[in-house]
Amino acid sequence: MSLFDKPAHVLHDMLQKKEISSVELTEDVLARIDAVEPEIGAYLTLTKDAALAQAEAADKKIAAGGDIAFLEGIPGAIKDNICTKGVKTTCASKILDNFVPPYDATVMTKVKAESPVLLGKTNLDEFAMGGSTENSAYHVTHNPWNTKCVPGGSSGGSAAAVASGTAIWALGTDTGGSIRQPSSFCGVVGLKPTYGRVSRYGIVAYASSLDQVGPIARDVTDAANVLNVISGLDEMDSTSSPAPVPDFTKALREDVKGLKIGLPKEYFTDGMDPEVEKAVKDAIEQYRSMGAEIIEISLPHTKYAISTYYLIAPAEAATNLQRYDGVSYGARVDGADLVEMMTNTRTEKFGEEVKRRIMIGNYALSAGYYDAYYLKALKVRTLIQQDYTEAFQKVDVIMCPTAPTPAFEIGSIISDPLQMYLQDICTVPLNLAGLPGLSLPCGRSSKGLPIGLQIIGKALDEETILRAAYTYEQSQNYHNEMAKLGGEQA
Ligand code: GLN
Repeated sequence: MSLFDKPAHVLHDMLQKKEISSVELTEDVLARIDAVEPEIGAYLTLTKDAALAQAEAADKKIAAGGDIAFLEGIPGAIKDNICTKGVKTTCASKILDNFVPPYDATVMTKVKAESPVLLGKTNLDEFAMGGSTENSAYHVTHNPWNTKCVPGGSSGGSAAAVASGTAIWALGTDTGGSIRQPSSFCGVVGLKPTYGRVSRYGIVAYASSLDQVGPIARDVTDAANVLNVISGLDEMDSTSSPAPVPDFTKALREDVKGLKIGLPKEYFTDGMDPEVEKAVKDAIEQYRSMGAEIIEISLPHTKYAISTYYLIAPAEAATNLQRYDGVSYGARVDGADLVEMMTNTRTEKFGEEVKRRIMIGNYALSAGYYDAYYLKALKVRTLIQQDYTEAFQKVDVIMCPTAPTPAFEIGSIISDPLQMYLQDICTVPLNLAGLPGLSLPCGRSSKGLPIGLQIIGKALDEETILRAAYTYEQSQNYHNEMAKLGGEQA
């Protein structure tokens, strides 16, 4: 019996009943890694020996009896922009190729308190800037459903690992879609929590007013359970929310009767792949047949979301990335004096997309342009937030596609940054508004690629999103299907 293809909650029950051991489970996942990781490339660092030692330790704890924690003994993977004490954290950048954090991010402290098995660190676009993992300074990750295609990004490694069975669960980060879009492309469930729900302490900052950590999982139940583990106020992150954290698994009920679902007309326009549009509309019809009420809404400022995001995110990134100067962190390239050393380090060690964002960001923040670009973007951000506030007076959740297309081919749009940015149209607006959003599989394209439905909720109302997602998931079979890899193809 294979174990790598099962969700964490099933494996948790098997471990609790002592039907399997964590060592057996971990060995099964490590064998899967040996078999398929060469064609997927989800990981930047593998910590196999530590994983087996953690599995042995978990088995000892389990043998001692009592209830086990949700993640106890279950192998997972961590995006490589989340600080892990003693394990390299590169952000897929050459500038951090030797950076070993001396501390854990708060999410890691919380995860480790559950005694999980940690398999390693997953690939991403450099500093989480991108939507395909093609901006990784190390290698491209391949989509398990079609290895010629990207897995999405920037958390492409985490999504590809969960989708290919080389991790049971994973953590990603989402600044403008980086949990949801790769989850959509890889046919798994990804949840970006409300801004502030999860501590950002120890997450390498990209755009601090937008970044959030969240789960990438096999199904909605696993996503809810992992969210339980990582949520909550943290005194190390002044933007984390003091709001009480509910038990998110209580939201896992099949019940959408009377649920008011808003369909924003601005999301179903030209440029949307017809197969994506059909799959999403079919899912909405399914909700209607299960008793939900469908209401057309308008989010009129959606058309400004990409321009607003691509000013605010680079502006914050330009500021956050000033710290990589060859002095405090990571790599150094020598020069005749301090300025030349810093210039050489940043010129050689940052990739092209990161440099592009630093230039856009510094331009938007510079004297004379600040009011015209950055300040204007902040004002439009408020208008985008107000669109949602008004919409949520009429509806409980908003549904739309996660991405305008299924996964695209590696190399097909990487040389056209604007086209790559436009891919983010469905995901960036809710980061600007700080709202939670989830992507779950709702179809397959004619080429067999997954399509994702995005469910957006009110601030701090992840529960309604999870209930809506769970109800739909139970009416489908996508969460039980895995990509065929490693010679399994018919
Ligand atoms: N694709 C978006 C960007 O490049 C989002 C990335 C993210 O969420 N980290 O900025």
